Amino acid sequence: MHRTHTCGELRIEDEGKQVILSGWVQRIRDKGGLIWVDLRDRYGITQLLLEEGRSNAPVIEAARALGREFVVKVNGKVIERLSKNPNMPTGDIEIDLESIEVLNKSKTPPFTIEDNTDGGDELRMKYRYLDLRRQPLRRNLELRNRLSIETRKYLDGEKFFEIETPYLIKSTPEGARDFVVPSRMNEGQFYALPQSPQTFKQLLMVAGYDRYYQLVKCFRDEDLRADRQPEFTQIDCEMAFVEQDDILNTFEGMIRYLFKTVKNMDIPKLPRMEYADAMKYYGSDKPDIRFGMKFVELNDLTKNKGFKIFDEAELVVGINAVGCAGYSRKQLDKLTDFVRKPQIGAKGLVYVKFNEDGSFKSSVDKFYSQEDLKTWADKFNSKPGDLMLVLSGEADKVRKQLSELRLEMGNRLGLRKPDVFAPLWVVDFPLLEWDEEGKRYHAMHHPFTSPKPEDIHLLDTKPGEVRANAYDLVINGVEIGGGSIRIHNGDLQKLMFKHLGFSEEEAQEQFGFLLNAFEYGAPPHGGIALGFDRLVALFGGSDSIRDYIAFPKNNSGRDVMIDSPSAISSEQLDELMLKVVK
Ligand code: ASP
Repeated sequence: MHRTHTCGELRIEDEGKQVILSGWVQRIRDKGGLIWVDLRDRYGITQLLLEEGRSNAPVIEAARALGREFVVKVNGKVIERLSKNPNMPTGDIEIDLESIEVLNKSKTPPFTIEDNTDGGDELRMKYRYLDLRRQPLRRNLELRNRLSIETRKYLDGEKFFEIETPYLIKSTPEGARDFVVPSRMNEGQFYALPQSPQTFKQLLMVAGYDRYYQLVKCFRDEDLRADRQPEFTQIDCEMAFVEQDDILNTFEGMIRYLFKTVKNMDIPKLPRMEYADAMKYYGSDKPDIRFGMKFVELNDLTKNKGFKIFDEAELVVGINAVGCAGYSRKQLDKLTDFVRKPQIGAKGLVYVKFNEDGSFKSSVDKFYSQEDLKTWADKFNSKPGDLMLVLSGEADKVRKQLSELRLEMGNRLGLRKPDVFAPLWVVDFPLLEWDEEGKRYHAMHHPFTSPKPEDIHLLDTKPGEVRANAYDLVINGVEIGGGSIRIHNGDLQKLMFKHLGFSEEEAQEQFGFLLNAFEYGAPPHGGIALGFDRLVALFGGSDSIRDYIAFPKNNSGRDVMIDSPSAISSEQLDELMLKVVK
């Protein structure tokens, strides 16, 4: 027998029990007369004790010969600890050791395998299997497992049907690049790995499986960022015979259920915000509404006072930072530097301090009188002690810039608390998005998203103004998921393809299967997909999804542990009829 208990389960109530434990040696402390060994497994850590004079001499000798990460099986008696450790679940007890059997030795690990490690990122990625022994990572995977179980429970309870869709498919246009897989049996032809199961789940609706879901891997060959992985997991869902409200209510229910069961938090009903308002008041389609600081537009108050920059700007817009009137020159310079960073790209920042004595001090005092600034303050609903921060320029750009500044101020003022969760729905996204480079419209969500019926007449004249039945779930400024009500009518789908610049032949070649399916009784349907890795990270209070994936890729899309991607042999290339041209 390898163990009677795990390393995480013994408590003071177990005192006196004879136990067998197996695990890894995390640490050995040898204080001459006393030796302590921390034994670790997936469930926790238990302290083992040896005492010179009392414990068996050969056992003491065996303990002294142990190294970090040796795998051992030990036998002993549970005793009460003299100095208890309230931070450990097993901190009240230790094991009075009677025997040690080394099951396997270990090289000295390249970094310390404890809660706080000395290993750098790259090293820990290379030895991911060692990093995964650390409790913080183990807890992350535990959270992931819990969330996937609860997700399945909820969806199962709502009569959703988990159905697997293929990984070797044909490319689906969802904006990103496809990963492709050469086909050995079909010379010169390629599969694509799915960016999402979008068309398959729609076909399942045509097939009559009216509530589908899948925890599914998706693949996108995009430039990587901290919160992106080339392969990631989605909670992918589709429903038939529904309207937008049915989908929002079902998945709002799921989010609230997950917060309740996994974090024991009651989340109030989710607010719904129109895309246009999200942009106008937060400069972002994923606003962090844990705090206010809504945008205030000032054009009508700033015009014709001799300040050319504001006079010429399409939009003058600002935020009110409560209680920041005391900011020093240096602090204000820092904020100006922040908005001038190339990634943000503002030219400058105008500030107005609303002093405690009711007077104003601003960086544009030359142009605006105290009375003028008072009208700004009224519009901001600013109070003495507050600081108004104003940007100007082209409307779209300046909104993005101010959105960054708003988040920065939120951080500085401690308003973005990791233990507060503020989910919302952003609805009524535009159907189409103008692509300046390609000089044409793209589907903002994907080509299967339906326009709002009342906006269809604008398709020819003002395509940019057509709204879609599309929605995003946003939590704390992070886009957790999105979906839409789909087009289920072949003619409308063809019209959509036409507006997206597909010829009839191209549409038929790429999506003939879907258009055909729509000829055989497609029900009204719609769905959503939530980024599972992001959701788990958010629940874990982190924004690094990598820490919640067992074997992630690094920032250049490499798995440094297995050293992939890598070259393949010339035999393999020949078989695939591929040639590497450098
Ligand atoms: N397939 C979409 C995506 O991956 C989600 C959806 O429309 O259901 O973003």
